[in-house]
Amino acid sequence: MAEVRLQNVNKSFGNVTVIPDLNLTVPDGSFTVLVGPSGCGKSTLLRTIAGLEMPTSGQVLIGGEDVTLQEPSNRGISMVFQSYALYPHMTVEQNIDFGLRLAKIPAAERKERVAEAARILALQDHLDRRPGQLSGGQRQRVAIGRSIVRHPKVFLFDEPLSNLDAALRTQMRVELAQLHQSIDATMIYVTHDQVEAMTLADQIVVMNAGRIEQVGPPMELYEAPQTEFVASFIGSPK
Ligand code: ADP
Ligand code: MG
Repeated sequence: MAEVRLQNVNKSFGNVTVIPDLNLTVPDGSFTVLVGPSGCGKSTLLRTIAGLEMPTSGQVLIGGEDVTLQEPSNRGISMVFQSYALYPHMTVEQNIDFGLRLAKIPAAERKERVAEAARILALQDHLDRRPGQLSGGQRQRVAIGRSIVRHPKVFLFDEPLSNLDAALRTQMRVELAQLHQSIDATMIYVTHDQVEAMTLADQIVVMNAGRIEQVGPPMELYEAPQTEFVASFIGSPK
């Protein structure tokens, strides 16, 4: 497990500043949900934590270690996107195993890790299928399986359920909560779905135009929003 800390992070593209000066601590082992309107910088923040974007200034610390200059693959993180591109010609097992094979993990350990992920995600009976033979929810579980096998300390989710229908989203929400219970990892989860945020989070971060409006447990934000913006986003109706 690992705490994630952002210190005075600024991210600009050319002369456009998307994140002016952000400080945030994501507690070790927490399920932290990041919410905010489209374009407010949620994905940019996740990508900065992942190392897919370099902050213009400031530091990213994971488990107390400054990883600002480290390659994404050395950060102990794993990112699950909304559009989960599985390899259509590979089986579920091969899809889950793919990253481990690239990382040259020995075959016996790979097999063990894939079996563990399949058990956690209830994919044991589907390992020989191809993505085309799976439901949307199963495909999303395979995408998560590809992250689990790498044993990351930190999972980053960027709106992973937004392409699923309402019933599947509800089911996957339960599964994600169970996943968090069953593996020791810090979860940072971006969504624009308030229900998802309220049910999954033990800490919600409300972002607006690259700034943090409020951080706190769901009920605290709901019952005591500190700004109009937070109130309109998740606060209780007045
Ligand atoms: P969100 O995920 O909250 O919808 P993003 O982080 O994707 O927001 O985008 C925040 C802002 O940064 C947007 O105005 C977007 O256009 C801009 N942006 C994101 N990535 C780039 C990039 N590579 N180059 C230029 N502008 C970008
Ligand atoms: Mg986004």
